[in-house]
Amino acid sequence: MKNVVYVGIIGVCILVAVIVFVKTRGGGGAGLDTLSDTEMTWVKCLKCGQGYEMSLKQFLKESREKTVPSPSGMPVALPLTCKECGKDGIVRAFKCEKCGEVFKASSVPGDIEDRCPKCKHSATEAQREANKAKMQQGG
Ligand SMILES: [Zn+2]
Ligand SMILES: [Zn+2]
Repeated sequence: MKNVVYVGIIGVCILVAVIVFVKTRGGGGAGLDTLSDTEMTWVKCLKCGQGYEMSLKQFLKESREKTVPSPSGMPVALPLTCKECGKDGIVRAFKCEKCGEVFKASSVPGDIEDRCPKCKHSATEAQREANKAKMQQGG
């Protein structure tokens, strides 16, 4: 049952991160300039199914341009344009370090956003397990 609590905590953390991101985003995007051009993120196209790596800075910049206000008040980030098929289907993705699958973030509903839908591996969870093991060793 502990896992459910962890997932809940992570969900709240992500929500807070999104709110902070959305709020700070309005200030002219100064945060983007602090990002390095060499920082990469995985993306996946929902239209053609292809995944590739792109600059995180570029991704955030394009996401900002594609974000539109919604009736509910929360801005909605539309998918970016795919360089492979030219359609708007690009969303943030992860590459599984275990099986190599490229999958969109939160592929497994209600679970960690980097949970692989194919082999169920999660880098976040692996990191957490490693930390836990370390703490137990240290007493
Ligand atoms: Zn595509
Ligand atoms: Zn995997």
